[in-house]
Amino acid sequence: MNLHTMIMCFSLMLSFTTGVPHIVEFPEPEPIPQEVYVPTLMYHHITNDFSNGATITPELFEEHMQTIVDNGYTPILFDDMIDFVHKKYSRLPEKSVCITFDDGYLSNYEIAYPLLEKYNLKANISIIGHAIGENQYKDTGYPMIPHFTLEQAKEMQDSGIIQIENHTYDMHQEAWLESGEYIRENAVKLSNETEENYVTALQNDYNTMKNIFNDYLKKDPLVFTYPHGKCTELSENIFKELGVQMTITTQHGNNLIQKGNPESLYKIKRYNMCNEVSSEMLLKYLKIK
Ligand SMILES: [Zn+2]
Repeated sequence: MNLHTMIMCFSLMLSFTTGVPHIVEFPEPEPIPQEVYVPTLMYHHITNDFSNGATITPELFEEHMQTIVDNGYTPILFDDMIDFVHKKYSRLPEKSVCITFDDGYLSNYEIAYPLLEKYNLKANISIIGHAIGENQYKDTGYPMIPHFTLEQAKEMQDSGIIQIENHTYDMHQEAWLESGEYIRENAVKLSNETEENYVTALQNDYNTMKNIFNDYLKKDPLVFTYPHGKCTELSENIFKELGVQMTITTQHGNNLIQKGNPESLYKIKRYNMCNEVSSEMLLKYLKIK
C-alpha cells in the first residue's frame, strides 16, 4: 500500500467512526518518470605527478565536482540504478549523474573520497582483485601506482556514499609484465583458447572476487566493469548467468535507464574524465541526450 492509499483509507475510517463525512483533499503523488538519462563519468587516478589520458589533478577533479553541484546534478550509485529498474516505486533524480572510478587507486581514497564527503556526493569504484592494497605488480614486483586496501574499501562503502564493485580479480593484466600461455588484458575470450576454457576462466575469476566481496565487504559483486571496456555477447551472457545485474564499458555516450527493463543496465556507456576535460566540456557531456 502506498502513502496516498494509506491516507485515503485513514480518511475513510475517520468518516465511519465519527459518522461525519470527512473528505480531505490530498494532492496526487508526483508520477514516477519511467525512464531517466544517466550520464556516467569515468575517472581513474588523481595526481599532480604526471598526466595521461586517464589522470586528473586534484584541483580539476574538485572543479568537476563543483560544476556538478552548481548545475543541480545528483550523483547516484549503481544500486540506485538497479533499484530504479527493478522496483516499481523507486525514483531517480531527474538530473542524475553516475561518477565512477576504475582500478581502485589509493588516490581515490586519499583525494577523491574526502572531496566527495565534503560535497556529499556519491560515487562508484571498481577494484582489481590482485592489486588490492598493492604498490607492486604481482609476481614481478614491478612498481605500480598504489591501490587502496580492503579496510579502506570497507570504510568507504560503510560511509554510504561509495559503492565498491568488480573490475576482475586477474583479467586486467599488463602484457609486458606477464609470461605464460594465457595473458589476459581483458575479460573477453582469447584467440588461443577454447570457449569451454574461457567460460571456466571467467566464472572462476568472478567467483574469486565474489569470495573476497563476501568475506570483507559482506555483499555480492552485482556490477562488472569491463577492463578497457572490452566485452562480447558471450561475456555478457556469462555474467548474466552469474547473476551480474549491470555491466560497464568505456563506450562514449549517454544511457537511458528504463523502469522494468533490466537490459538498460547492461553495457553502460561512459565519458572519459581526465585533464583534457574542462568543466565546460563536462557540462556539455551532462546535457547530451
Ligand atoms: Zn581498468
